[in-house]
Order: sequence, then C-alpha cells, then structure tokens
Amino acid sequence: MVRGQTLENKREFMLENICGEELRITLWGDSARDFDELALHNLPSPIIIAFAGFRVTEFKGKPNLNSTAASLWYFNPDIPECLAYKHFFAQLPVEIQQLPSSSNVVLSIEEQIKENRRTIHEILCMNSYEHKHLRFTCQASIVDFDFPNGWWYLSCPKCNKKLSGGEKNYTCMDHDAITSLPVPWFRLECIVTDGEDVTNFLLFGKTVENVFGSLAHHYVYDKKFIDPSVLPPAMAAKLNKCMIFQLRFGAFRSITNRCEVIITNIFDDTTNKSIHPLETPTPEPKSSATSKTSTPLSSMKQVLIASSTP
Ligand SMILES: [Zn+2]
Repeated sequence: MVRGQTLENKREFMLENICGEELRITLWGDSARDFDELALHNLPSPIIIAFAGFRVTEFKGKPNLNSTAASLWYFNPDIPECLAYKHFFAQLPVEIQQLPSSSNVVLSIEEQIKENRRTIHEILCMNSYEHKHLRFTCQASIVDFDFPNGWWYLSCPKCNKKLSGGEKNYTCMDHDAITSLPVPWFRLECIVTDGEDVTNFLLFGKTVENVFGSLAHHYVYDKKFIDPSVLPPAMAAKLNKCMIFQLRFGAFRSITNRCEVIITNIFDDTTNKSIHPLETPTPEPKSSATSKTSTPLSSMKQVLIASSTP
C-alpha cells in the first residue's frame, strides 16, 4: 500500500508490509521529481514497490528511509519476495490514498494510543469493508488465548504461510517444496473483553515478536517451548491486563462471517508507553508444564524523539 504526499522537491510515502508495519520513506530533490506519480494512478492495485539504495534515519522514534543519489525503485518487480504480498493483498484489496500535503503522516505514540478509539461493541458494528484502511484502537484485556492449532506453526521461509506435509517433505501452497529450513511463526487468537463485550483479536507474526521482544524461533528452539499447545509463561503473563490495542481489519472469515480484527500494536494502558514486557517467571503459568528459568529478553524501547524534519 502506498500513500503519497507531494511537496515541492520532497515526496513522502507511508509503506505498509503484510505484517501491518508501516515505514516512512522520503524522496528528496531529483529523486522526488523523477518519481513517476502517474504510475501510482495507472497501475492496478496492489502496487508493490521495491526501494533500493536508501539511507536509514530516525524520525519521531521510527525508522525513516531517505533517498540518496544512488536510490532506485521498481514497480511490481518480478522477484520471489513479492509473492507473499500479492497473495496477501489479493485477499485484502487496497487502494492508494493521497494524503493532504499538510498532514503529519507519522503520529506520535500518544496520538496513536488515542487514535480512533472504539469499544468492542462499536468494532463489531463497524463495516469492515468501509473501514478496511482505518487504524483504530480499543481498550481491553485478553482473557484467554484460543489456539486449537497451537500458538506457533512452521511457516514457509519465503511467505510465512503454514506448511503442510511432514518433516521430510514440507510444502507451501505457493512455493511447493521448500529449499531452506521452515521458520517458526507466531499466531495467537486472543479472546478479549472491554468489560461489556467479548470478541477475538488476532495477534500474529512480527507484531507478536515486537510485543514479546523475541522471535518465535527463539521461543521454540532456544527456550524449548516446542509444544505449540503449551503456552509460554511470558504469554500467559499478558492475560487480564488492561491494554490498548491498535487494530485494523484483515481477511474475511467465513466461519464468523466477518473480517478478522488484527492487532498491529499493543500499548500499556497505565503508563501510556508501548508495552515491552520482560519475560518474568509467573507463579502459576496457565497450562504450562515446561516452565523454566529464563533470561530476560532484550526490551525494544520505542523512544519518543522531538519533532524534526528528516
Ligand atoms: Zn511460501
């Protein structure tokens, strides 16, 4: 998804990957002038762009890519990495949105926490197609995890889709037999309540890695939480805590006849800071028989930086 805004000699985009993570990218000078804006309007959606040769900087505590003299970009490149994007956005069609040129594209964490606040009742009444681009927040707590198929699965190293077949012949529905090792991937269905209503939010992939500060690979192979039906203590510790969920709608689910609600970030409700839990041993971890003393995970601090132009 590309949302562009045009300023003189400067062009900014917010890109979104299939994990719902956003990245701001800024083209300056000749790069800004050379960018073919018409292509954005003429190419069919989804438009996948590969940007190369950019300098990574920080803006308001978030990574920002700045163009250099060597910057290049490719529309809908024919590379294997695009397959996962094509598949994902085929299920969830997106359109390019042009932002007003004066808008402040990157919201501060405080603004994000308050952004489009909804109750669960209001979320259940929202038209998910009408609001498929909307990012919204909800104050709620996780009362339980629903994982009939476990909290992690072995995924295709190219597209993170669930693999079928056994240990000797793992196959991906898009990539057939995989050539490198399968990648453990988080998928947690959260049962949440705001005190009035109950629903499910989906927590998966990179968002879980950010919330727990650790890769699924680390949990499964280094910490030996191999059994996907046994919840690690760090996840059980998330239960019944008041939190702010940042959300968006995902793919349509025929079982519920609704679009799933995907968690894109979790904020602590009391401190107004992003939650970066350390793994602390819980006294009675829910359904965990394999609790072991664990080393604290490196916390991923989101630092608020004073406003400045990148
Ligand atoms: Zn695949």
